[in-house]
Amino acid sequence: MDKVNILGVNVDTVTIPEAVDAIMEMMKENRPHAIYTPNSEIIMTAYHDEKFRDILNHADLLTADGIGVVYASRILKRPIRERAAGYDIACGVIDRIAKSGESLFLFGGKPGVAEIAEKNLLEKYPKLKIAGTRNGYFKPEDEKEIVSEINKSGADVVFVCLGAPKQEQWIARHLDQLKVKVLMGVGGSLDVIAGTAERAPDFWCNHGLEWFYRLMKQPSRIGRMMALPKFALTVLIHGKKYSGE
Ligand code: UDP
Repeated sequence: MDKVNILGVNVDTVTIPEAVDAIMEMMKENRPHAIYTPNSEIIMTAYHDEKFRDILNHADLLTADGIGVVYASRILKRPIRERAAGYDIACGVIDRIAKSGESLFLFGGKPGVAEIAEKNLLEKYPKLKIAGTRNGYFKPEDEKEIVSEINKSGADVVFVCLGAPKQEQWIARHLDQLKVKVLMGVGGSLDVIAGTAERAPDFWCNHGLEWFYRLMKQPSRIGRMMALPKFALTVLIHGKKYSGE
């Protein structure tokens, strides 16, 4: 698959349907695959943290979740055609496995959120197999039990929704112990499916302004948002060194 190196992170230049197809192909292989969907804030974290960068670069699929990453790919002359957000890819995968029969484990969010997400999904897709649910608040000593719970559930796909970088680190730490086919770090997706968080309306997403909508709704995000201009500047100044352009 075609990749663009953005500040040391090798992002796949896939569209949402291509990402979903690739994940469905991964289900045919009998080993766990890791899928992450970094935005510019996460790429900035990886830029400063070699260990985390290594985790991202060992993913089986890394898609651009955020207009900042799409713009960066254009600056680096390896354009990603569209934003491939984790939530959209997660929805695409659900749509496919509801027909093909693979089962899904929902892991993450506050207590109760995964169960509401399960209920909402089963209303929309009565044939979808949900292997299990578990909230995302736990102590380090609980992790072994969580791995064993997921393995016992027989799940094929796990949505790991602990926010970044926690979810990517969790997946990387346990990948070899998990008897599943696909692990996707998809942040706040369970909150959106459960209806406990709202996604920006299409207008804002289609115009590359989701970040602005989220900022209006949650002004406390301003600190996190400052990563965006820093990211743009860093790509402009140092990007070509990494991308080989
Ligand atoms: N979350 C969790 N465990 C934690 C921290 C966060 O399950 O220890 C969940 C949180 O409840 C939310 C999700 O992770 O549902 C994503 O959080 P956030 O919106 O901060 O992450 P983003 O999607 O912006 O990366």
